[in-house]
Amino acid sequence: MIDLHVHTTASDGSLSPALVVKEAARLGITHLGIADHDTVNGIKEALDAGKLYGVNIIPAVELGTDYEGMETHILGYFRPDNYMNINHYFKWILQKRFYRNEQMIKNLQNAGFSITIEEVMKKANKGTPGRPHIAKILIEKGYCNDINDAFNKILLREDIYIKREKTSPKSAIKEILKAGGIPVVAHPVYLEESNLFEKTISLFLTYGLKGIEVYHCDHKVYHEKKYAKVAKKYKLLMTGGSDFHGENKEGVELGSVNVPDELVIELLKELKGQ
Ligand code: AMP
Ligand code: FE
Ligand code: FE
Ligand code: ZN
Repeated sequence: MIDLHVHTTASDGSLSPALVVKEAARLGITHLGIADHDTVNGIKEALDAGKLYGVNIIPAVELGTDYEGMETHILGYFRPDNYMNINHYFKWILQKRFYRNEQMIKNLQNAGFSITIEEVMKKANKGTPGRPHIAKILIEKGYCNDINDAFNKILLREDIYIKREKTSPKSAIKEILKAGGIPVVAHPVYLEESNLFEKTISLFLTYGLKGIEVYHCDHKVYHEKKYAKVAKKYKLLMTGGSDFHGENKEGVELGSVNVPDELVIELLKELKGQ
């Protein structure tokens, strides 16, 4: 059993890296990809826990990029000895995140919500601070019932929402490669929404894309079949995972997406050769 796409408290998951690994061991997961948004801060703890509980940890990151106005996620897979090579890349991303958070908090305050940037930072603790943390505070203060409510009724409001400046897929793919990692397009089902799928994959290939996430909690069987075909056509690695966020993403359990074990053998082979 493998799960190559998991979030922890280092970004917007609800379980710490050590607890995610412990839970993975209990479920019989042999290979676990820790893929937090825009950070590798949870990897060290996960690697240590992996040794303790006997789970192979694959260090990873999920970069949120801007592709023609659409948020497109690029996963980067690394080895335990090279994942820190990408760390420098997060500085700019974090600065833009902090700026966006501040602007959104100002908008919330102007709209009459009682919330401060200090509360957001405290809520994020060591994690990448973002809208899920703002949402949690709004729920705690009784402004909304749950996370979906927080996004739909407040955070996406025209007078509240501020777009975060993001890197491009080209830059993300190239930086992952430069750091010795393997760039993989995450949950391609979202690319289908604007009929950009074929065009996007062809373009990303020119940047050096090496893999496609075939299995994901939001993919139906026909998506899996389609993306497996695409992988074969373009000689891309196949990956897959649950996109587990703990209780921050309802209905998505750790290891709940059926990912063939062979995929990880190919991924590890490729990582070794990087
Ligand atoms: P940020 O990176 O700060 O803009 O926040 C993006 C994160 O918010 C995503 O990774 C999701 O975990 C979460 N998210 C985005 N849209 C929604 C939504 N409609 N409902 C719940 N969570 C969401
Ligand atoms: Fe997330
Ligand atoms: Fe994602
Ligand atoms: Zn994810």
